[in-house]
Amino acid sequence: MALLAASDLDLSPLRTLRAERMGGGAVLETQYNPLGILGISAIGFAVIAGFGLLVSWLGPKLAAGFSGGKSGVSAEKIAKASQTLDRELSKVLGLIRAHITTNDSYAKSLANAQARLSGLTEAEQVRVIVSLLVAENERMRQDSTELKSKLEDSRKQIEALRSSLSEAEEVVLKDPLTGVGNRRCFDVTMEKAILDCKQKKSSLSLVMCDIDHFKRVNDAFGHQVGDEIIRMFSRVIEAGVREGDTVIRYGGEEFAIILPMAELDAAKSIAERIRRQFESKKLTIRETNQKIGQLTASFGVAQFRQGDDAEMLVQRADSKLYDAKSAGRNRVAAFGSND
Ligand code: GH3
Ligand code: MG
Ligand code: MG
Repeated sequence: MALLAASDLDLSPLRTLRAERMGGGAVLETQYNPLGILGISAIGFAVIAGFGLLVSWLGPKLAAGFSGGKSGVSAEKIAKASQTLDRELSKVLGLIRAHITTNDSYAKSLANAQARLSGLTEAEQVRVIVSLLVAENERMRQDSTELKSKLEDSRKQIEALRSSLSEAEEVVLKDPLTGVGNRRCFDVTMEKAILDCKQKKSSLSLVMCDIDHFKRVNDAFGHQVGDEIIRMFSRVIEAGVREGDTVIRYGGEEFAIILPMAELDAAKSIAERIRRQFESKKLTIRETNQKIGQLTASFGVAQFRQGDDAEMLVQRADSKLYDAKSAGRNRVAAFGSND
């Protein structure tokens, strides 16, 4: 079987056209290039999967109200990212649609050439058809290269979006004064912790704590010093918890500590350690050398029980915090089996 001069035409990264003379006519045979197909498909799938992941990651956050957060910057950032996401998604879908159309028209050209070639006997006529095919092939190659580079651009955009959304999420979940989690972080972490607890039948405890007589501190030393003390208290709490625990500024000078995989006794010991550490601090105002004197905090501890929701757990820990205050403050009270 004699091969035509331009027999092996590299049609695109996707396939090679092989033209063979058979008897009086010629036959076109398309050989698919598996590496080319894999390459384009991999990028396409990566981009689409990236969008899928991003949408599934961003969706619940938007639904949970992240976009309505107090931090205007973050809400704006998320809204912007969401718009870019929409734009990129329609761009990728458009690209794929256009590529499918080009592919269809290319397939038609091939079929057409195939039909014409089978009736041809003159080498010159075959040459004309082959040069048409070469042109068609060039168009296809350009289309594939363009698609590849545009999909690569989209992939980069998605990466940038992902990191910008992570930054926004950080801001949205943090308390600006102390850097620990805020109430929204509390809701998100608790929901996840309770779900884990139910699924793995593991333990979970919650500590609520509040600085004692804080109004007096504010009145005596001013709000700014009060802020410094709230910050310092948050650092003492952070230093006293285990890895995997979450510290939340629940409001004012009140903090919550979410302790996954902690039984009541373990949570009580952690609270007791923090209480002792806080009361041991000897604070002075640097500028004036004025002594603030001893500060204390009270703690309420409760353990998750099957059937609880976040609110019930908070209520039990809160009721114990109230007991600790009523019993004279600077103590830890835990919700035990007798309550
Ligand atoms: P108790 O021992 O019963 O907790 O007494 P308390 O004086 O601490 O009472 P309470 O917890 O009701 O008062 C908290 C005070 O904390 C009231 C408010 O002025 C002050 N506060 C709330 N948020 C802030 C803040 O961000 N900075 C400062 N400096 N003070 C705050
Ligand atoms: Mg207080
Ligand atoms: Mg308070």
